[in-house]
Amino acid sequence: MKQSVKLIVGNWKMNGLAADLTGAVAEMLADLSARPASVRAGLCPPATLIDRMVRAIEGGLIEVGGQDCRVETKGAFTGGVSAEMLADAGATMVILGHSERRQEFGESDALVSEKVGAALRAGLMPIICVGETLAQREAGEAVSVVRSQILGSLSDQLAGQDWALAYEPVWAIGTGLTPTLEQIAEIHAAARAAMVERLGEGGRAAPILYGGSVNPANARDILAVAEVGGALVGGASLKAADFLAIIRAA
Ligand code: PEP
Repeated sequence: MKQSVKLIVGNWKMNGLAADLTGAVAEMLADLSARPASVRAGLCPPATLIDRMVRAIEGGLIEVGGQDCRVETKGAFTGGVSAEMLADAGATMVILGHSERRQEFGESDALVSEKVGAALRAGLMPIICVGETLAQREAGEAVSVVRSQILGSLSDQLAGQDWALAYEPVWAIGTGLTPTLEQIAEIHAAARAAMVERLGEGGRAAPILYGGSVNPANARDILAVAEVGGALVGGASLKAADFLAIIRAA
């Protein structure tokens, strides 16, 4: 079933300087006056750019989000950024549990679940990432890994809230590889079942984004797959023309 509003979110990762706001983002904004009504779009730049991006986007055609937050509100956590700080800078959403954070910073499902609570406390929409590694897929464990990550990373507090899940196979992130449409459909169906298993009926409404090497050439087909409610886009979100093409494909 095709959902009516697709959520397309760009993850800039550790890329972007102030100059990009007058380049790439200005180009997107100029074009997005004709944004399709069926799309909700967000961009998650490094925390240093959130405030400036919010000002650049004035008018709200694209929402701005963070890429991570700490669980705590404030305190002696050198280098940390709280959900409240993201919201204070103008963010409305935050990516949590991205595989790069799970792998590089050892973030566990339990920590991600706590971060979900922090995001909701600050009024941010959590976008919770899950996905299997290549070894896990090759071992036939993709469905069970994703189910287990969902059961562990969600929080009871999500029921009735504005949130999204993002299925991002680790082996598809930044590699140019993508699962087949059938594989995407299989995992998204399993993810929905796990969301309902975890939250009851409260697990039915949140969109499930697909993420991993989405580009203008494959976006339309991927976004048409059952239970694909949008896309989380890394590399292609750094190029205004590509991100716009993906938004238009939704
Ligand atoms: C991501 O990092 O969330 C991502 C999907 O990256 P890419 O689109 O570059 O594969």
